[in-house]
Amino acid sequence: MNNSINDTTGPSRSHHRAEDPESSSKCQVPCNLCGSTQVEVVRNRDRHDKPLRSVICVDCGLVWTDPRPSPEDERAFYAHDYRRDYKGVEQPKLKHVHRSGLAAVDRWRRVRELVPKPGMIMDIGAGGGEFLYMGAKLGHCVRGVEPNQGYARYASETLGLPIQAGFYQDVVVDEGSLDLLALFHVVEHLENPLEAISTCRTWLKPGGSLMVEVPNVEATCQHPSSQFHRGHLYHFNPVNLSQLMRRAGLEPLTPWLSADGGNVAVIGTDPTSGPGGNHPPSSVTNHPAWAIPGNHLRVRRVLDGHTGLNHMLKPAPYVRPISKLMTRTREWLGVRGTSDGRELLDRLFDQHLAAWAPDRQST
Ligand SMILES: [Zn+2]
Repeated sequence: MNNSINDTTGPSRSHHRAEDPESSSKCQVPCNLCGSTQVEVVRNRDRHDKPLRSVICVDCGLVWTDPRPSPEDERAFYAHDYRRDYKGVEQPKLKHVHRSGLAAVDRWRRVRELVPKPGMIMDIGAGGGEFLYMGAKLGHCVRGVEPNQGYARYASETLGLPIQAGFYQDVVVDEGSLDLLALFHVVEHLENPLEAISTCRTWLKPGGSLMVEVPNVEATCQHPSSQFHRGHLYHFNPVNLSQLMRRAGLEPLTPWLSADGGNVAVIGTDPTSGPGGNHPPSSVTNHPAWAIPGNHLRVRRVLDGHTGLNHMLKPAPYVRPISKLMTRTREWLGVRGTSDGRELLDRLFDQHLAAWAPDRQST
């Protein structure tokens, strides 16, 4: 855990505005988190150098695509660029199973003590089912949804998991039925994250947990030109991701970053102590109470400083190939001796579960 990721200290917003009055702009979509319409433009191109306007809320630091692509553009984008990812019938390669298996171990390490056994677990955007497969091994009842039909079929047939092919919008869940709901790399694609998280909260049992992971807008591990693309409608940092949880009525734990800083994750717990708790309204209204003083400047400092030249002068572009080589080597070693994804996960998970055994006995 790194306390510095919650730091929003810096010059006041009013000071910044006085210095740079030309930077203010209009937006078509109000801030999904605080309702403000006061924004500044942070980028005008996407990773393919096509026009894509990204704005930042001066009141809370949330970044989003504005104007939103038209429904026709969205359909064309998903039909073309996302065909392989979301419409394909490919199944994960063993190296991907290994990589996602390690991610599942890390995620369960962080959340396992929050979930009673046997818990009701749901994963939206379940990928190849690695997180749920480990959840089942931990003794939980699991269920998932995955938009990639090939991955959904793989998780069902190879791992024996109840995973349906579909998107978040296709899910029907009973209120108050889940102990843990996972949303890994889903929220940034949604048109209304606040409404989605608020709805997800109603699916939790009292005291249940919602685990969210998204790309970190403050990441500097990749070249700045590759940061923004049309698949991601919203960009969060640790501070406003936590605030999103709060506004949806959840109590966020301390957020954490991936090893390269590229992703940010947080767990929000439902604070109600009994059934039928008071769920907050999910409508986006301008509510100054949800502003986050200092966070806009914190995010802007990172975005403005993350230029192509600065990137090349930092260790990241030179460390990254070495890191990738080490990852590939670890994956090569990890998948040796098997050609079956289930066998690979059994081997990987059983090794970690054995290490957790004392904890398992005490819970
Ligand atoms: Zn805002």
